Amino acid sequence: MNKTNRRLSILLASVCVAAVAAPSAPGIVEEYLRFFEARNAAAAGILAPPSQHGEMKISGEDFQRPDAIVRMRCPACKGKGAIEVEEPDFGQWAGRMGRSPRRPEKCPVCAGRKTWRAYEDQRVLEAGVAQALSAFSSAHLAKGDVSVGNAFVPRQVYDNADRKRLRLVEKTFGQECKKCNWTGLEECKRCRGEGTVKCSNKDCKGGWIVTKRTRTTRSGGRSHRSSCSRSYGGGSSHSSKVEEISVAECPVCRSTGMLVCQECNGMRSHICSKCRGTGVKSK
Ligand SMILES: [Zn+2]
Ligand SMILES: [Zn+2]
Ligand SMILES: [Zn+2]
Ligand SMILES: [Zn+2]
Repeated sequence: MNKTNRRLSILLASVCVAAVAAPSAPGIVEEYLRFFEARNAAAAGILAPPSQHGEMKISGEDFQRPDAIVRMRCPACKGKGAIEVEEPDFGQWAGRMGRSPRRPEKCPVCAGRKTWRAYEDQRVLEAGVAQALSAFSSAHLAKGDVSVGNAFVPRQVYDNADRKRLRLVEKTFGQECKKCNWTGLEECKRCRGEGTVKCSNKDCKGGWIVTKRTRTTRSGGRSHRSSCSRSYGGGSSHSSKVEEISVAECPVCRSTGMLVCQECNGMRSHICSKCRGTGVKSK
């Protein structure tokens, strides 16, 4: 069977990927189209050798589901590699002139790398799979092929095949894993497919530690406030409360408010536990 699906050339004239409304990852649609065609070539090849006048070159690797690995843009620095640290206004400047200036800093989330390897966003991936499946089946239906399970075989080949071999065709192509629907991946539950999570420091407010402290000052009634406001000998005095706010960068997330998800290591998804990543229903 390996020989059959190696460097197979099959007819795919009427498929026009670009014509279908594209999700944001056209590469995924193309890769999945090759995946389905490779499975189909292997499946239909049981009945008859594939036609040699095709346009799409299929290799043995295409029989494996696409790995769906992309470079994901760091959400903390938005792919810039650096963040501009500027203290947000929590009221700490009340009565003070000016603000702390912005200072650029290497992004702590991506370590300045701007992007990292991750699985394609699960929704984009699912949309790409659906689009590839529809392009795959409409191309074969347009040629007049007959569907056998998820596979397609030419009409005259179908008419000459017995049931037993048609079942083998169906089995060879296989069915989608019910859990991941051909994607072979499951979205990480911890980060919901984001690759990052909110900072784990419970005192962290969007990257900053805000401390409020109320200080009581006592001042003499007679005179203006002074640094020496203790009242002597029963002179009238009153106390006033001053709220002090101090803002400091969170030491855990270094002002970004987020951390790389430890559950998926920033990959956004896990290999599907049901099909072990093949995307295909087992047994
Ligand atoms: Zn970054
Ligand atoms: Zn995660
Ligand atoms: Zn934090
Ligand atoms: Zn699965």
